[in-house]
This record gives sequence, structure tokens and C-alpha cells, in this order.
Amino acid sequence: MKHDLQGIFDALLEGVLILDEADRIERVNPEARRLLGLAVDATPGRTLGEVLGADHPVCGVVERVRRSGRASIHDEIEFPQRFESPIPVDVAVSNIGDAPSGTPSALAIAMRDRSAARTLREEISERERQESYGHIAAGIAHEVRNPLGGIRGAAELIGMRSQDERSQKAASLIVQEVDRISGLVDELMVFARGDRLELRPVNIHRLLDGLLDLVQLERGHEAIRLVRRYDPSIPEFEADEARLQQVFLNLVRNAMQAMESRPGTLKISTGMTLEHRLVGEDGRAQPTVRIRIQDEGPGIPEEILGRLSTPFFTTKPKGTGLGLSVARHWVRRHGGRLRIESVLGEGTRIDVDLPLHPPAQEIRT
Ligand code: ADP
Ligand code: MG
Repeated sequence: MKHDLQGIFDALLEGVLILDEADRIERVNPEARRLLGLAVDATPGRTLGEVLGADHPVCGVVERVRRSGRASIHDEIEFPQRFESPIPVDVAVSNIGDAPSGTPSALAIAMRDRSAARTLREEISERERQESYGHIAAGIAHEVRNPLGGIRGAAELIGMRSQDERSQKAASLIVQEVDRISGLVDELMVFARGDRLELRPVNIHRLLDGLLDLVQLERGHEAIRLVRRYDPSIPEFEADEARLQQVFLNLVRNAMQAMESRPGTLKISTGMTLEHRLVGEDGRAQPTVRIRIQDEGPGIPEEILGRLSTPFFTTKPKGTGLGLSVARHWVRRHGGRLRIESVLGEGTRIDVDLPLHPPAQEIRT
């Protein structure tokens, strides 16, 4: 019977950890180990604080339960992970055993990984946001495009008819600015149109090499050092080459621009992951290509991180603020994800995860 219980305990999808009355770890199942980052042999006889560090959030919850004597449930506490972003975990702590009230008893801690739910939530709000960009884009295009054509035509006419140089210059300035606005409207239109992707086998390394050379030639980028770490085992995979070019051009350009005032190293790496966040149509994790772009620029302040992918948000005097939102749009259309992580003063890291097999609704050409 003892073995059966241990088997059930180990098979639970929730993390469970049992502490004795002195906070020593008595039992811990594999899921709890994963969430807490515990090594298999690290635990017997040691206290929770010794193993996790006293400042781990779960130690705080345990302490509160010890003090109040009452069970406690917390939503989405962030559990730090050594090499990954923190995992949101629901935590329930309760007294077990039959110690008389007022004396310390054994505790059970149940933990549930909420990353999938959180990702789903983020996906939904992201999709809603993208849809609203589409509506705005369509509205602007409709209201702005036609009058722009009229303005441009009229300015050209004035330019041709007028004799003095100043009027001609003014007229050509109008034409030039109208063209700039038209360009922006065109870019914004990517959100409005539901164009199908043109899928063809793409060699991601060739694609990256092509645009890296291009961006490095731009003014101010000569001193930036490029380091490429490509995983040669990545096969060609179906994607829309022109769209992906746009994605990585925007991202690489941002990274290089971030290092213009203080040249550093731009690291581009690729690899395969079984990313649990990219879930295929059959609900299973699917093989994913990860392209990582890491710069040594100034980093991005926390308070603007959430706004970066909003169209027209820019901190650059001549920026359009469309680069990241357009990049995110095309990555999503490929069934992928784009993540931004940044440390002030150290740099910014962008991960683009693309499924090796694109969503079925995109046609192949
Ligand atoms: P733009 O480059 O025209 O400003 P983007 O959408 O490409 O528009 O980027 C939006 C903003 O995000 C930038 O103005 C900049 O503040 C910030 N940003 C993007 N990439 C980086 C990066 N690698 N390092 C620091 N800041 C960045
Ligand atoms: Mg940009």
C-alpha cells in the first residue's frame, strides 16, 4: 500500500510537498520539484528555507500559515526559475495531521502551474488587440487615402504651374510628405488585410545572413560586432520568406540602433526547442525553431515594455513605431510567438519562436 500511495503521489499533475512540524521536507513529488527547481537528492531532512532560500515566495506563504494556524490559498505567485522566466503558480498551504491546536503540525503544500492559462489569456487579449488595430487601420486607410491622392495631385499641379522657386519647393515638399504618410498607411494596412501567407521552404540561416549584412552597412552600424551561433540541424521549414525577412529586418535594425551610441556585440542564435507554449492543432507541444536576437544596448525601461508593440509607439526622433508591432503580427500569423526580455544597462533579448510546421489554414504555394 505504501508503494501505491507513493505512485499516486508521483503521478499527480499538481506539485505536492509535505513538511513536518519543523519545516523539514518529508515528501515531494516530481511536479513540485520541477516548479521549485529542486534537485532529486537535495531534500531529505533539510528545511524548506535551507533548500530554496528564505526569500523564496513559498517560504513566505508557509510562514504566514504557521503564524495564523489557518490554511491559505494564493493565486499566481511567481516562482523564479534558474534559466527561464518565472512560472506563475497557484499555491495552497494547509495543516495536516492531528496535532493539538496551538502546536505546530505537518503541512501540505499544493502547487498548480498556471503558465498555460496565463498564456491563453495573453493570447486572447493579444488577438483582440491585433483585431482592433485592423479596424483602426482600415478606418484610417479609408478616410486618409483618398484625400491624400487629391492633395498630392493638387500640389503637383501647383508646382508645375508656378514660376517662382519658393512655391515650387513648397509644392514638392507637400508631395514628399504626402508620400511619407501614404507609406505609413500602407504599413499599417498589414493589420487590416487578411492576406494569406505564401509558404515555401525557407532556409532560415541564409535569410538571416542576407539581412544581417544589409543592416550592418547602414550608417552608424559599422562598429557593431556580429556573432552568429547557428544550429546546423535546423531543416528548411515552410514559411513566408518575404514576411520573415521583414520581421528579422525590423528586429535586427532595432537591436543595432540600440547600440549606435555605444557599439557592442549583436548575437544571433538559432536552435530547436520543444516549446511547451506553442501548441499545435492536436493540442500537443510541437517542434519549434527559436531565433534569438540579443543586443548590448541600454535595455528597455519596465514601464514602456508593455507598450512597445503598439503601432506608432516610438522613442526615436525619426521612428515610425511600427517595426515591432508589424514583426509581432507576422510571427503570430506563422503560428509563432515573439518575446521581449530586457535588463536595463545590459541589453535586450528577443526570442522568435516559429513552429516547424505552420498552421494548416495557411495555404502553400
Ligand atoms: P521604431 O524603431 O520606429 O521606434 P519599433 O516598433 O521598431 O519602432 O520599436 C519601438 C520602440 O521600442 C523603439 O522606439 C525603442 O524605444 C524600443 N526598442 C525596440 N527594440 C529595442 C532594443 N533592441 N533595445 C532597446 N529598445 C528597443
Ligand atoms: Mg524599429
